[in-house]
Amino acid sequence: MTHDLLLDAYAGLTVRSGLNISPGQQLLITAPLDAVPLVRRITEHAYRAGASLVTTIYSDDVTTLARYQHAADDTFDTAQAWLFNGMAEAFKGGAARLAIAGEDPALLSGQDPRKLTRANKARSLAYRPALELITGFAINWCVIAAATPAWAKSVFPELPEADALERLWRAIFSCTRADLPDPVKAWEEHSAALARRTAFLNERRYAALKYSGPGTDLTLGLADDHVWKGGAGRARNGVICNANIPTEEVFTCPHKDRVDGTVCSTKPLSYQGSLIDGIKVRFEKGRIVEMTAAKGEEAFRSLISTDEGAARLGEVALVPHSSPISASGIIFNNTLFDENAASHIAVGQSYTENIRDGGNRTQDEMAALGANTSLVHVDWMIGSGALDIDGVKADGTSEPLMRKGEWAI
Ligand code: ZN
Ligand code: ZN
Repeated sequence: MTHDLLLDAYAGLTVRSGLNISPGQQLLITAPLDAVPLVRRITEHAYRAGASLVTTIYSDDVTTLARYQHAADDTFDTAQAWLFNGMAEAFKGGAARLAIAGEDPALLSGQDPRKLTRANKARSLAYRPALELITGFAINWCVIAAATPAWAKSVFPELPEADALERLWRAIFSCTRADLPDPVKAWEEHSAALARRTAFLNERRYAALKYSGPGTDLTLGLADDHVWKGGAGRARNGVICNANIPTEEVFTCPHKDRVDGTVCSTKPLSYQGSLIDGIKVRFEKGRIVEMTAAKGEEAFRSLISTDEGAARLGEVALVPHSSPISASGIIFNNTLFDENAASHIAVGQSYTENIRDGGNRTQDEMAALGANTSLVHVDWMIGSGALDIDGVKADGTSEPLMRKGEWAI
């Protein structure tokens, strides 16, 4: 298939299986400038599906970088609260949300980490009203990716730019199943498979997961009343959507006070323009008390010191080592893809949908069950072909859940 046909199939898949836009619904898109051809196709598909109004807010790596190079030092506690408040207002009014990732993963890696920390914190605070509606699944939303020259170059540094870009697009089309004859049907089947997995885990009601592997010896308690989720989900506005394309994970809420032991990362993490690799941490009663990283240690340290909840876990996800993304052998330097190549954990904010009846509980009730609160939510990969995971029941008995990175159930 030609690139244009694949791009169109990908756009159609995003609108139908990803967002599942309802007739009359508005759509708010954020996208990198290099994603214009994809945004145009998505917009066309969205209107054909009945969207009432599609609005896109573009970002540009070059102008993002210019701020860190030239803006006065005392301006880094500023964020565009007006924009995020407007986004929150759009969601309250029923608009769907599409985020298109594709930024240069190492854009800000040479910049002053203190400026980054301050800017990220200001942004997280300002973004909170909009983010709460997203993590609370108030509306149908979806995150996808677009290949951009800078991102492609970081994934395939040995290739000329045009070839790197084409290879990254092909990888995206294949990992998202957009290159199959009927991508929408493929997603229905994939989602049904994930639903069978979550049904099994929800029936087991494990109290904890026990991880063992090279450098990893971790007991991760699950939140009381936790719910495993995966694949398509129903937003509180009633629309069934796929929040991530691709997605291979089943995930739930860890108990913020019941994580003990050591764990190390197995893939690099791209966080706000910095590449972080070789993370090793030790947890005590849910909190990270020791950490080192082979690369980007300062960025990771600043991430987990964002606030009290940033040093605790908000998500645990299981992904088989043989997932199509892992099988591609590509390190994408992008969480949307890399998190679906391996089992992972996330520091920071937990998802309301991962606690039974979470949408109707107060923040104190959620905290008492073990849910975590933070301005950040950042996934990092701990799975590999050498990782074993056991499910531990409340009575202390355990059973194999994953062996050498693959499902044992
Ligand atoms: Zn995840
Ligand atoms: Zn996550």
